Amino acid sequence: MRHFAVVGSGPAGFYTAEALAKAYGEQAQIDILDRYPVPYGLIRFGVAPDHQSLKAVSKRYDKVAETGGVGFIGNVTVGRDVSVEELLDHYDAVILAIGAPHDRKLGIPGEDLPGVIGSAEFVGWYNGHPDFADLDPPLGGTHAAVIGNGNVALDVARILSKTRDEFEGSDIVGHALEALDRSAIRTITILGRRGPHQIAMTPKELGELGHLAAALPIVDLADFPPVEADEALEPGQRKSVTILREFANIRANKPKTMIFDFFAKPLAIEGEGRAERLIVERTELDERGAARGTGETYEVPASLVVSCIGYSTPAIEGVPYDDRGGKFLNESGRISDRLYCVGWARRGPTGTIGTNRPDGYEVAEAIAAEMPAGSDGGRSGRAGLKRLLEERGVRATDFADWRKIERAEEAAARAGSPREKMVRVEQWLETLGR
Ligand SMILES: Cc1cc2nc3c(=O)[nH]c(=O)nc-3n(C[C@H](O)[C@H](O)[C@H](O)COP(=O)(O)OP(=O)(O)OC[C@H]3O[C@@H](n4cnc5c(N)ncnc54)[C@H](O)[C@@H]3O)c2cc1C
Repeated sequence: MRHFAVVGSGPAGFYTAEALAKAYGEQAQIDILDRYPVPYGLIRFGVAPDHQSLKAVSKRYDKVAETGGVGFIGNVTVGRDVSVEELLDHYDAVILAIGAPHDRKLGIPGEDLPGVIGSAEFVGWYNGHPDFADLDPPLGGTHAAVIGNGNVALDVARILSKTRDEFEGSDIVGHALEALDRSAIRTITILGRRGPHQIAMTPKELGELGHLAAALPIVDLADFPPVEADEALEPGQRKSVTILREFANIRANKPKTMIFDFFAKPLAIEGEGRAERLIVERTELDERGAARGTGETYEVPASLVVSCIGYSTPAIEGVPYDDRGGKFLNESGRISDRLYCVGWARRGPTGTIGTNRPDGYEVAEAIAAEMPAGSDGGRSGRAGLKRLLEERGVRATDFADWRKIERAEEAAARAGSPREKMVRVEQWLETLGR
């Protein structure tokens, strides 16, 4: 019998557990640990609440959790409640799938002013992440700025623009729905350091902006290279750029605008005790396609600034860390003897949900090659970990506990919504009678 600990129950953790379960059958016990009693990582806390069809991938993960030999151990933070070294004592291999939950810093003056928030915080707030339930983002001003040219920036701009009716069927948490309904924001500037050809936005997410009830996307065609230049783009990117160009042809009057400000590099955020404006430098592309400042500066008013410029993985004691990449130091997912990483903790914050699948399968195959099914490492696995956690007074939860929370959230849903998420760890534990 082999024992494996997968730390993190997001997509990468679940795909890895799925691959290990397939490779070992009844010859292994696989535990998926998470710091929360609720599973799925960014499927619950990142993916936009108005994109429910994407969240349905969790049904596949449920099947994995309910496979014989697979266990879910929630409410256990690795690095605090139990160390990686201790896990390695009890398990034959430990796979870190903890994602990249920390916002990267802008590194400009004024970024600590009230009103400047990272996307992990803002997205966490509308998605019911317990760390950000009390964020209370400033929505009383008329102007917001979203920094970044990826899909997360689009999510943030769209959520800031939607009407109450447009959240029908979503699971946006009640506190965010009420606050957004009262929001005074009318102009959202989306800033990117480079141009339309360099966006990291996908066609579906961009296309949605053209069909919002109360908001209009605005582009300046002068920012675009000649249309013939689009031919050289990879097909998906060409589609995105075509959609962007078409925004220039929309003729409509709507109360809110989303302005795409390309070739725009934020230099500073200024204001009297809170964010009021961004100081931005106009850029151009250099020979290598990087943004180069032109020296021309201008101001963008914004009392809310959301930076969507990427994430990093937190370091864990004793695990080699790549400071530049903001992830664990690894080679094809291998960190050191019997210690691996997958997903965003391995690659950094790129790719889609599906990208984590081959990633998890590759690491599971490497493990199976090293420790063939049928072999025995003589370790205590789940029983040993449970003993340790009990000794420390850590109240671990299991998948049946999650199902109880899930039922309670579904029962509390407002009309038309799949669930009303509980937004505090204590609420989860109370539901479980702890
Ligand atoms: C705002 C946002 C929107 C997105 N939207 C989409 C989309 O629409 N479509 C798409 O394809 N992709 C989307 N993605 C990308 C997708 O969410 C990621 O590819 C995927 O979630 C990465 O999986 P992961 O398992 O590596 O990390 P995560 O999903 O972050 O999972 C990490 C897990 O580890 C747990 N954990 C962290 N630290 C510890 C610890 N110390 N101990 C125990 N457990 C721990 C966390 O609680 C979490 O459950 C989005 C990402 C973001 C940020």
